[in-house]
Amino acid sequence: MTTELYLDANATSPVLPSALAAAIGVLEDRFGNPSSSHASGLRARRILDATRARARRVLGAGNGRVMFTSGATEGIQTAVLSALCAVRERQAAGEACGELLVHGATEHKAVSEALAHWNRILGTGLRLQALPVDADGLHRLDVLRELAPRAALVCTMAANNETGVVSDLDGIARVLGEAGAGPLWMVDCVQALGKLPLALAGTRIDYAPFSGHKLYAPKGVGMLYVREGAPYTPLMIGGGQEAGQRSGTENMAGIAALGAVLAALEDGGVFRSHAQMDGMRARLAGALREAFPGIVFNAPFERALPTTLNFAVPDMASKELLDLFDAAGMRVSAGSACSAAKAAPSYVLAAMGLPLWRSSGAVRLSFGPLDDEAFIDAACARIRRCGAALRGKVLDTSGAGPGILQLSSEGRHGWIVFDGAAGVAVAIDPPPLLVNRSAALLREHGLRTLAVLGTGADPDGARACGLLRAALGLDDAQAGPQGWPQGAGEARLEDGRRVPALAIGDALLARVDGAAGAASYLLGQAGAAQLRAGAVRMAFAGSAGAAASAGLVHAATVLCHGVDVAEAPFGAPAGGTAQDGMPGQLQPEALAQFLDDRGDALLVDVREAGEIAAGGAGLAGRPALGIPMSRLAEHLADLLADPARPIVFFCRSGNRSARAALCLHRLGHPQVLTLAGGLALAAEHS
Ligand code: PLP
Repeated sequence: MTTELYLDANATSPVLPSALAAAIGVLEDRFGNPSSSHASGLRARRILDATRARARRVLGAGNGRVMFTSGATEGIQTAVLSALCAVRERQAAGEACGELLVHGATEHKAVSEALAHWNRILGTGLRLQALPVDADGLHRLDVLRELAPRAALVCTMAANNETGVVSDLDGIARVLGEAGAGPLWMVDCVQALGKLPLALAGTRIDYAPFSGHKLYAPKGVGMLYVREGAPYTPLMIGGGQEAGQRSGTENMAGIAALGAVLAALEDGGVFRSHAQMDGMRARLAGALREAFPGIVFNAPFERALPTTLNFAVPDMASKELLDLFDAAGMRVSAGSACSAAKAAPSYVLAAMGLPLWRSSGAVRLSFGPLDDEAFIDAACARIRRCGAALRGKVLDTSGAGPGILQLSSEGRHGWIVFDGAAGVAVAIDPPPLLVNRSAALLREHGLRTLAVLGTGADPDGARACGLLRAALGLDDAQAGPQGWPQGAGEARLEDGRRVPALAIGDALLARVDGAAGAASYLLGQAGAAQLRAGAVRMAFAGSAGAAASAGLVHAATVLCHGVDVAEAPFGAPAGGTAQDGMPGQLQPEALAQFLDDRGDALLVDVREAGEIAAGGAGLAGRPALGIPMSRLAEHLADLLADPARPIVFFCRSGNRSARAALCLHRLGHPQVLTLAGGLALAAEHS
């Protein structure tokens, strides 16, 4: 198996070996409670005090407080609660203390959510105001100058987790200074620790939260710096730990581990220097440019931490890039890790004014100061492998009979029907966002496009068809209704009707017109230019009823819709065996036993060809049939042919295989399963 290259350091990091040893030492031997007065307690207290002393030095905390927390989210809550309790007291005393809670537009969600939450709970009645950023991601100081005199609290991060953009904290401090005593100021320093110099007591920063797991300490430990004299209200009260500032028995394993990381920072020699990391970024960027011509970086390098590369590739969704990197054993993330599950555009990149394709197609690759040159070499080699896999022919055109490629975007499905041997293709309903991709695919595979056809299913469809024709250099003026080429042939249907038809290799694509300019296309094997109902394999229909009403489809015909119907792009016509409900899931720990029990089960890998080229095929050493999700349509009839044989679909994470299983289930296969968690979890059980 390919070794894993972890390039998602801004989401979390592995644990530094010395930090692991320190945590184990505490868990195994020095497990005392630092509040106990006996020897075990005193030994634990010594670790706590020594770690705090180190933290004070590393952060330049001066006379400020440094307390241990469960992480940055807790530090943020504590800072916001402290600031708002002070505001409430001043409000009660009739003092003016501002009416705004200002936060950078690109702040981590923990900040804006905490501001809204505590403002509501405490009834402080302030207004949240996002501070805009410029195209480079830097806070607009001109806007801050206007807001600061009316602000009670200003929150601006030190470095952004998605883009790595480093804030101009000196500039912000100057503007706040102009506002006299000015608002309280919180700076989220999570991404700065170990990457930017810190001397907090020399600044006017009031609160600075930190998180251990972003710099080689375990999850569940963090720090909060509070400037001497800044208002403070404990978030948790109880046993009086942390001098009564944060009650609860201390997470000693986490604190000891954090102490080891702080020691590495203070003593030097463990982490790479800024200049070294700059060089590493340049090499990664070079490999990315080589692999993905046209790539754009979403933040200027001179403004960002060298450890974060945020980029987008024209005509590629971030999900596709992620699948490709994952197949090559590289763990990167889409936009920010927290929003990776939703494919929403990044609000950080949107705030910088980037166009939608860059904010919704963004990929973040981030490394850490512990990574070395050999690691970067390996990452560059894998990036190049991903590029080569993409450039390779992603479409297998060698199959017998017509191939069918599904192109889906924004909930719309389009189709390319092609014959590799004859070198011809027809595009049906290309999704508007995939026009360029469709043109490139057809060109790269040397397929001559006979027609770009619409079913009239969707109002944007005709425009997308026109754009694809133009991109392919086809003459739009020559196209008839729904893009039908002038002078194409005819076919006789079984019922005697004569309809327009195109030959695609040995297959025939016949057009059957419906109401109001809609059309369905029937694909079948032609016999003497006659299309019998029994020979219609697929019907491409904008709406479910159109093809069925043509009276030419039979129970085994698969309807290919322009949008999902019952959660699937495919349906069985009336008389078919559509099933409700959901297909079964196979848990990764049950896979081996299932395959032993059901030796006849068919394993189907639905990852795309590029992913398999980048990372290799197979599941737990067992042979699998490769049917990329985008080619499922073409194989449905074969897969449905043997209902007694169970089918287990798998992919990278379990999402695409779940969709494939649902399609087969809807079409009536009684024994389809999807492997929960995909290859990611199966690898742990093989
Ligand atoms: N702030 C920033 C900038 C972050 O990147 C994160 C982590 O994603 C947090 C806050 C939250 O940190 P924690 O996971 O320690 O609560």
